[in-house]
Amino acid sequence: MHRLHRILTSLTVLTLGVALPCRAGEQTRPAPTRPGARGLPPGMEARITVDGEEVSPEDMERRLPKRIRVRCPVCDLALMVRPRSLRFSASESDRDLCPHPTGAKSPVSELIVCPRCGFSGTERQHARGLSDERAQWVRTHLTPRTQRAIRDLLTRKLTRLQLQPDELWKIFRDDTQENAEDQVLEELVPDTIRSANALAFAERFYPESYAVRARLTWLTAWSHRRVVAAPIPADFLMRALRRIQTHLDEASAYAPAPKDRVNELASMFQDSERFGLVDRQVIRLMMAGDYERLGYLDWAAASLQRCRNSARNDQGWEEAIREGTDAGANPPEQAVMQQRNEIIRLASQRLESNREEARLLGEAAELLRKALRQELETGEVYPPKHIPAMVYLVGEFERRAGRPGRAYAWLDAASELHPPGDHIGVEIFALDQISALRTALGDDPIPPNPQMGDDGPMLQALAARLREASTSEAEAAPAAQAPATPDRP
Ligand SMILES: [Zn+2]
Repeated sequence: MHRLHRILTSLTVLTLGVALPCRAGEQTRPAPTRPGARGLPPGMEARITVDGEEVSPEDMERRLPKRIRVRCPVCDLALMVRPRSLRFSASESDRDLCPHPTGAKSPVSELIVCPRCGFSGTERQHARGLSDERAQWVRTHLTPRTQRAIRDLLTRKLTRLQLQPDELWKIFRDDTQENAEDQVLEELVPDTIRSANALAFAERFYPESYAVRARLTWLTAWSHRRVVAAPIPADFLMRALRRIQTHLDEASAYAPAPKDRVNELASMFQDSERFGLVDRQVIRLMMAGDYERLGYLDWAAASLQRCRNSARNDQGWEEAIREGTDAGANPPEQAVMQQRNEIIRLASQRLESNREEARLLGEAAELLRKALRQELETGEVYPPKHIPAMVYLVGEFERRAGRPGRAYAWLDAASELHPPGDHIGVEIFALDQISALRTALGDDPIPPNPQMGDDGPMLQALAARLREASTSEAEAAPAAQAPATPDRP
């Protein structure tokens, strides 16, 4: 197990810059129930550990490294950035290694983004600066989409703020600082903008760097997943959320994993005596978040669609909202409309993120395939010990992208691949995710892999590369430390 943990940790550091715990105990839990019956938000049971020790959010704030000032190489804005070297572990991570750094506001990648022009890159890229051609490309392509993304985040608050498109970055300024006119707290910029902009830049200027593009693609997909699984905003929804959370706390003494929580939520959804119409829409939003994290993206979309349709069509709303909330200063009818619109907006926004995540994970799988092909041709992309994990990730991304035939081919191959040396690797995860794949398919058989003609030979070649690495490792090691295993060549 230690070896597996080390490999996953080093892989995650490789991909994220943070260390994550592995969750090996998950396979004993029941598979989640299909939707229509019974989803999660993390964020409530925030538990942050640093070097294995649990710390409070306040303590975390004190432990975080002091912010440094990084000047944007395109527009010269001062970005106050926390160095991302701190090794903190997220309280939860998904099976495709997506971290959920609950309680910590710090972004989970090493990318630094400027909210004014939209340039996003590593600290080294910021320090090195950009050619005029590239800076101009940033202004033409990244600036408008960044302004659109910030505007979408603000929605209704926009009219009150009275900001022009080229002033929208000002919402990320540090209000507590005097003379902070041209400096922003970079960590406040959402991860969706940070990773999507770095990805767009890489696609334009490093199209052949498949490994880099693959990683930026899955980082962007993960940022969308965290949107779907985010805590529910808006006061009237928070009240419903508290009722639901109280019930969840009663049902379990410890913070449940998504699989357990989604099943509990599903049975709560059935209990229409106890949970009213608004509560049940919040349950649907929570279930969508859990399904998303477990990789049942279709089920997440179905929950979100039902939630949105209910706010659009259900006749019981006026009564439900009048009973469940105080309408405040607004006439009740107007309050009902506002609340329904809020739910429709939330569900629509999360559906959009759900689609983006599925699309991006499908792309990440394609790019990882290309990176692995480069590996076979040049031997220079991934160290051999990471190959099983990369094969596993292709399968897991395909599963989440809703392509079961391709997913099965790669997960099945990962279940047979061992890292160099006779150790446990991702093969146990692969077997679990194959059963998750079967759960999603229900009674349907696993369809054939349409790319088997290409994938088969590549997977065989990767397995051969690993055997070669294992043999040379065994030969290189002193005999006393690595005795020959009789039944292995
Ligand atoms: Zn800038």
